[in-house]
Amino acid sequence: MTEATLLPRNEDGIETVIGVLRQRFGERLQTGASMREQHGHTTTWIENQSPDAVVFPHSTEEVADVVRACAAHKVPVIAFGTGTSLEGHVNAPGGGISVDLSQMDKVLAVHAQDLDCVVQPGVTRADLNTYLRDQGLFFPIDPGANASLGGMAATRASGTNAVRYGTMKDNVLALEAVMADGRVIRTAQRARKTSAGYDLTRLLIGSEGTLGLITEITLRLQGIPEAISSARCSFPSVDAACRAVIMTIQYGVPVARIELLDEQSVRAANAYSQLTLPETPLLLLEFHGSETGVLEQAETFREIAEEFGGTGFAATTSTEERNKLWQARHDMYWATLQLRPGARGISTDICVPISRLAEAVTAAQDKAAELGLLAPIVGHVGDGNFHTLILIDMDSEVEVANARQFVSWLNDLAISMDGTCTGEHGIGQGKRPYLVKELGEATDVMATIKQALDPDNILNPGKILPG
Ligand SMILES: Cc1cc2nc3c(=O)[nH]c(=O)nc-3n(C[C@H](O)[C@H](O)[C@H](O)COP(=O)(O)OP(=O)(O)OC[C@H]3O[C@@H](n4cnc5c(N)ncnc54)[C@H](O)[C@@H]3O)c2cc1C
Repeated sequence: MTEATLLPRNEDGIETVIGVLRQRFGERLQTGASMREQHGHTTTWIENQSPDAVVFPHSTEEVADVVRACAAHKVPVIAFGTGTSLEGHVNAPGGGISVDLSQMDKVLAVHAQDLDCVVQPGVTRADLNTYLRDQGLFFPIDPGANASLGGMAATRASGTNAVRYGTMKDNVLALEAVMADGRVIRTAQRARKTSAGYDLTRLLIGSEGTLGLITEITLRLQGIPEAISSARCSFPSVDAACRAVIMTIQYGVPVARIELLDEQSVRAANAYSQLTLPETPLLLLEFHGSETGVLEQAETFREIAEEFGGTGFAATTSTEERNKLWQARHDMYWATLQLRPGARGISTDICVPISRLAEAVTAAQDKAAELGLLAPIVGHVGDGNFHTLILIDMDSEVEVANARQFVSWLNDLAISMDGTCTGEHGIGQGKRPYLVKELGEATDVMATIKQALDPDNILNPGKILPG
């Protein structure tokens, strides 16, 4: 188990704030043990550190009231979306109040002509896309979990479509946020571009609830493409598959998705999603464009794949077949866990420059084998980002030690390749040591910003920054 640091608790302040919030929120303030535990970290191997209470606000004003009460008594405030983050982000190492934003779940406006919309933070990505479908629009960022858009903005999330449409940093036009002193700010208007002052939108994106609580998000939308086709192709090795990816990207084929599954992941997908894919490394692709455009893209990819020994290339425009394949991809976390029932899954998240991708994936496979770890790989490889899901028996000290060694080695490898220890999951508690290794003195500047905006360190303390 990775131990999360404990912070000093402000017992009196916490008790007073719970009293104040109970008066204000009645039954929308909960202190039961299981509710509190659900709002501490529940994914992967970082221990759960429950908050002291969970509050469910319905409006920006209510969020600001919570923050002001906590600020007055120097009590930690931890924003909570759907709790799917993977690095102990929602833990409460010094106790405090979890602000669950799931009941702020309204789509406030869709400006179809401007291709944007305004949502509350508790709207999930799947709910937004269901809402938009009839208008011929979609929001492309799709983490494997049905996360909240507030949580996705706060972690700078991405997913399978990022190779074409970018990450949350590219798809948020403006934010409304409650700052540590209870002030409510708007970071930008809806204009597509702006040179107006410091970019507070980008500052808050990826700040993991440590600089402000996001209460409204203005998102860029996309028109549903005229044609969509998907394809799959098997390869003799992950090295060959990654080399095909590198060439596809370098050729400028505008793939919408290009995802790698290694042989163990394909085995897991076959068993979990009742598929019959050849159990060798696999690339799954999606192409967006005009009818002829998607055919051309698929053909260019097929030619590249053949150069690297790709076989069994199959493309389809059938929505049903496509959905089945991508549902299987989105279910990979659960499918992989079934390879070893009872084991814990620890997800890594490195991202390297695309030219180093094949080397990094092959090295990760070799290192996992050397340490005797079962660690299937899936990746958003068009961006140079991939995950190993290490399956370990938490009762085995040897396995836990080997998994720790692997995670540390892999993060160091990414950093040594001019890459990052986290392409999309964020820092939370788990990756704090690597942030310093990766960015050095820049973390001091981050600490200065944090100190200026949250001098009493009440917003999600113990996350991102070391110490
Ligand atoms: C099966 C699975 C697959 C995943 N696949 C991907 C993937 O493909 N890509 C990817 O990027 N991630 C992925 N993740 C990780 C996770 O889904 C993302 O990090 C997601 O963005 C978290 O959103 P959430 O609503 O669950 O946030 P939470 O886990 O609730 O919170 C995450 C962080 O954001 C802060 N926060 C939440 N809401 C707000 C708010 N309104 N204002 C300020 N701060 C806030 C929290 O304090 C916390 O620090 C996956 C996770 C799982 C379990």
